[in-house]
Amino acid sequence: MTSLQATDPEIARLIDGESRRQRDSIRLIASENYASAAVMEATGSCLTNKYSEGYPSKRYYEGQEFIDQVELLATERARKVFGAEHANVQPYSGSPANLAVYLAFLKPGDTVMGMALPAGGHLTHGWKVSITGKYFRAVQYGVRRDTGNIDYDEVRDLARREKPKLLWAGGTAIPRKIDFEAFAEIASEIDAIFVADIAHISGLVAGGAHPSPVPLADVVTSTTHKTLRGPRGGMILCREEHQKKIDRAVFPGLQGGPHNHTTAALAVALEEASRDEFKAYAHQIVKNSQALSAALVERGFDLISGGSDNHLILCDLTGKGVPGKVASQALNRAHVVLNSNAIPFDPRKPFDPSGIRLGTAAVTTRGMKEGEMTQIAEWIDQVVSRPDDEDLQKRIAGEAKELCDRFPAPGV
Ligand SMILES: *Cc1c(COP(=O)(O)O)cnc(C)c1O
Repeated sequence: MTSLQATDPEIARLIDGESRRQRDSIRLIASENYASAAVMEATGSCLTNKYSEGYPSKRYYEGQEFIDQVELLATERARKVFGAEHANVQPYSGSPANLAVYLAFLKPGDTVMGMALPAGGHLTHGWKVSITGKYFRAVQYGVRRDTGNIDYDEVRDLARREKPKLLWAGGTAIPRKIDFEAFAEIASEIDAIFVADIAHISGLVAGGAHPSPVPLADVVTSTTHKTLRGPRGGMILCREEHQKKIDRAVFPGLQGGPHNHTTAALAVALEEASRDEFKAYAHQIVKNSQALSAALVERGFDLISGGSDNHLILCDLTGKGVPGKVASQALNRAHVVLNSNAIPFDPRKPFDPSGIRLGTAAVTTRGMKEGEMTQIAEWIDQVVSRPDDEDLQKRIAGEAKELCDRFPAPGV
């Protein structure tokens, strides 16, 4: 950090503060993680200096002898880890990866079907404020009120009626396994392109802790920085028959030069994801999520769908009489960091919702196990019971730091 400190002490100080915050707090934001020191090193490398529009051996500028190998390694590893016929590792992030899929298969005004944002879907699956809800005719499915889960008969009925050209599965607040087979059947019945967006669960899929959509879906998109634990980025996996369309949509359809430092870091993350330790990590994420769920239920918390099959827990705080934002802010003061979140059929406003969302990827990366999850649930219960008690928050922040010291975080 010395050259950064010399050049820009203001930014150096802020990065140092964020690093301490990540080190000393219990991070339960379901989309976040700790990338390894090796991934961070690649991200901070000189590869950021190179332009390489195009694809390996088909570039527009010279000097690609190393960059081509980096991108080839990343794509090969992505194909191997996920068992995919083709991989495109150039999308800048999850949202651009999804936009590329629209560009590959749809014309403006065509019908697309995805899960509604308030039910747990993603903005880019056709939500009205997103470009995907403005430039396309979006039809949205949700979850059942009684179970909190996707009703596949309802999805099928809606799909038959509305005939979308593109059907999305996946989302940002889905605590249960997704039945990719059911989605694939529905899509094939109506001759739609089936896209599985595994942004949240790609690390679980890679580690064998969640069924893979790769053999079933036309296209699979993902971020690379959530449970997969790579650099901030996106990727697209697809069948060979769609390779040309997808590659052309990413470049030159949507993007210019790929972020080579990110591609290299993704290659590193995928190498890490192919190891046995990663499989153990992926399975431990789910065990931790189930332990945290059980400990919360024991303390009277109301979980959407009653529990969790993956890394994610969605909790309705209505019964606790505390709005999601009050809880998340009080917990943040106790250095237990999560986000307030809409719950299905939320009577409150999106910016002031009824729930909180928790995820176990980052704490699992630190090496925490079921016992620590019980401790974390106990802290959450205490803070949510008395959200105005600042002494309590201070005490728990201290205890959280002690726990964090016992489980060092990589990369910070
Ligand atoms: C996080 C996420 C995205 C978007 O990823 P960004 O990198 O934030 O653009 C897309 N889809 C789903 C399901 C996600 O959870």
